[in-house]
Amino acid sequence: MTLEKINSSLKNANLPLIEYEILEAESADGHPIGGRLWTHKFSNSKNDYYDRGAMRFPDTPPMQPVMRLFRELKLENVMIPYIPTIDDNINFFNNNIKTNTQVAAAADMGEFDPFRTWTRGLTGTAKDMYYAQIGPFRKALVENFEKGWRMLMKYDAYSTRGFMTIKGSDGVGTYSTKVVDYLETFGAGSGMYDQALSEAVLQSLDFDYPDDVNWWTIQGGSAVIAEAMAKNIDTTRIHNGKRVTGLWPAIKWTFPLGTGVISLNPFPPTMPIVKGVVSSIPWGAFRMVDTSWCNLSWDFQTAARCLNYDPSTKVGIKFKERWWETLDPPQKGDVSNTDRPTRVVVYPSYGIDGTDATILVSYTWAQDALRVGSFAGNEEKEKIMLKVILKDLADMRGMDEDDLSELLVSYDIWPWYSYENAVGAFAYFGPGQFSTIFTNSTKPAVMGRLHFAGEATSVWNGCV
Ligand SMILES: Cc1cc2nc3c(=O)[nH]c(=O)nc-3n(C[C@H](O)[C@H](O)[C@H](O)COP(=O)(O)OP(=O)(O)OC[C@H]3O[C@@H](n4cnc5c(N)ncnc54)[C@H](O)[C@@H]3O)c2cc1C
Repeated sequence: MTLEKINSSLKNANLPLIEYEILEAESADGHPIGGRLWTHKFSNSKNDYYDRGAMRFPDTPPMQPVMRLFRELKLENVMIPYIPTIDDNINFFNNNIKTNTQVAAAADMGEFDPFRTWTRGLTGTAKDMYYAQIGPFRKALVENFEKGWRMLMKYDAYSTRGFMTIKGSDGVGTYSTKVVDYLETFGAGSGMYDQALSEAVLQSLDFDYPDDVNWWTIQGGSAVIAEAMAKNIDTTRIHNGKRVTGLWPAIKWTFPLGTGVISLNPFPPTMPIVKGVVSSIPWGAFRMVDTSWCNLSWDFQTAARCLNYDPSTKVGIKFKERWWETLDPPQKGDVSNTDRPTRVVVYPSYGIDGTDATILVSYTWAQDALRVGSFAGNEEKEKIMLKVILKDLADMRGMDEDDLSELLVSYDIWPWYSYENAVGAFAYFGPGQFSTIFTNSTKPAVMGRLHFAGEATSVWNGCV
């Protein structure tokens, strides 16, 4: 429910209205609204864009608030199917190319190492072996979330890697480190299995609920969601270019105790004194907010400092034509995975068979993202990174690298850990963090005047 609607209900009930102002660090001529809902447009042509942040929304039970929001914002006519899998999708590992169908056919014949890695101990497909370990938790959470949560928290101190190598699921046993490396390569970013088992289980449910579900993406990009939300509030209350740099409890002029917010722009600083603050600043960016006068508990400070965020880097390329849809077989939607630096290619589910040819050419997480992201920032470095990505693509699709380079029009690279207003892509907690420090970050502080909201305060991290 939007604040305007809350206010209209309060008005009907003759209760005092909630006054609010939104302070947003991004300037009006930068990326004024949306935060991590950020669509990069190469031009104004209908499908000439890609999403730097959120881009796909499965209709799973954890995503129901998002589905409700879409309905409330009347976005049904711009919700278009996101294509999560096609049979002919290409996978490219260890210099071997296999389609999904070929991988499945090999598994049916008892061949579980289709990419010839010679990893010993593979007894199923990468996904089957992984789900054999996390399956009991997934099942328990689906059957009864509270009961499943208690079961999950018993193992929260484990990393995904630690659980699979040291404890193992009942009836499955443990896997060798080499097998776990293999599973991580096929199913996650490099190093992601060092984070919490519980996070891996929850994220698997975010995006892969047991039943078949519809997946959606928004025509025009996810920025459309933020734009629709802004239409539901009084936009004069959004103050761009207002970076919150500190929070001070104010004892003057307000009773009971208020919380002051200071913003540096415009200079000289202004310090509005308000009755309460709801901060949805991601924890990485919140580190730069001076809270030294707020008497925040040690536990809170530990949570705000330590809760882990996953790095992610996205590289979008605008080509002259949708070459991936002219291949034999054509690639329309879905993602290709590879162990090369590119890691994941997301073929657009929008503009299929059209002329706008923009593609999310590399989507990386964890250490893979930090490494690709290190090459962002100046043309010389970016050239090196682009060459690698184009070679990966050409090799993956059996194309000539120079021919592919000829088709390149422009590109965009977005390393989320280097962006000062997010400092990380999304929360992806480390071992033990859910059961120990997470709840400290969701409690109000400064005598109930300072509250925290946003993605990292939900158990469904990484979702809108
Ligand atoms: C690469 C990537 C892929 C994703 N994919 C998906 C997906 O497919 N599906 C899905 O559901 N979710 C996805 N997500 C997650 C989703 O985008 C986020 O969970 C969600 O957008 C977070 O919303 P938020 O309001 O909590 O934070 P944000 O959107 O980050 O908003 C925080 C706001 O605070 C502002 N700010 C920061 N510091 C200050 C300051 N000091 N003062 C004032 N303002 C400040 C920022 O500019 C920003 O506008 C993805 C995220 C990323 C990064």
